[in-house]
Amino acid sequence: MWLCSRHFTEYVVDRVRATLKRYGMVKLGDSVLVCVSGGKDSITLLDVLWCLRDEFSLDIKVLHVDLGIGEYSVKCREVVEKVTEKYGIRPVILDVKRVLGMDVGAIARRVRRSTCSVCGLIKRYLINYVADVLNVSAVATGHTLDDLTMYILKLFITQDLTQLSRLRPYLEGVPEVGLRARIKPLCEVSEFETSTYVKLLSLPHVVARCPYINPDSMDFKVKEFLNSLEDKSPGLKLSLLRNYLKKLAPILMQYLTESGAEVNRCRVCSQATSSEVCSFCRLVSRLGLKPEEVLRKIRKEVLSS
Ligand code: SF4
Ligand code: ZN
Repeated sequence: MWLCSRHFTEYVVDRVRATLKRYGMVKLGDSVLVCVSGGKDSITLLDVLWCLRDEFSLDIKVLHVDLGIGEYSVKCREVVEKVTEKYGIRPVILDVKRVLGMDVGAIARRVRRSTCSVCGLIKRYLINYVADVLNVSAVATGHTLDDLTMYILKLFITQDLTQLSRLRPYLEGVPEVGLRARIKPLCEVSEFETSTYVKLLSLPHVVARCPYINPDSMDFKVKEFLNSLEDKSPGLKLSLLRNYLKKLAPILMQYLTESGAEVNRCRVCSQATSSEVCSFCRLVSRLGLKPEEVLRKIRKEVLSS
């Protein structure tokens, strides 16, 4: 399609509206915690949900995790503060350095793990914890069509069927263990479309990539491969996602139910975990900190935002 600027931005909003309805992602009056890193995808997500907030009576809250990755994190935080100010939203900004005493790179070196795995663990935990403290109905992330199709193919290649079965645009919450629903409203919007959207609307966003990104990783290779297929057969990614959800996902769901990975509450922090003590509490203890004190600090920061 060849669209003018106004029709293009309307097209993206229409697509997200249709996605919210198609996958039953939100109900009227829901409160949604939008995770915003400051990149083009999460900024598009926030702007589009902001446009649709009256139509769905959404109460929008924003979470940004400042990872303390030098100039990159400074820019991300500035962008999030600037954008949320425009909408009159007071974001919850959690500074990893303030909460855990060091940035993600230093934590990774201390516990001898890769920075991305430590970063992922911390972000996942903080998102769940903040969603629980704020008692929101759902958590929205900026995963795009490119991300979802990349994960489908990658997890199929590695045969990580448990992770693959959880890969859905809408993942129901598990209230008994404090887990909120997870929604991916941009799952049918491409990265090309998010980058065009922020440019056309002159929305502030961070262009720089995190210095820890590994361009040789499998994620990148799979994305490149899918891009080359999409170039030759436009629409291939969307059809891969929809067919996966219609045909393979229900079978995998059955597999997950039968293999029954149990979710409990962590003995220390009461958040969801598959073991007795969650990986965040174990990480915090390895840093020589007391999980209870760290959580008290986080809770205080969230409630005072
Ligand atoms: Fe975190 Fe950067 Fe790795 Fe992404 S690339 S997981 S932001 S450290
Ligand atoms: Zn815990």
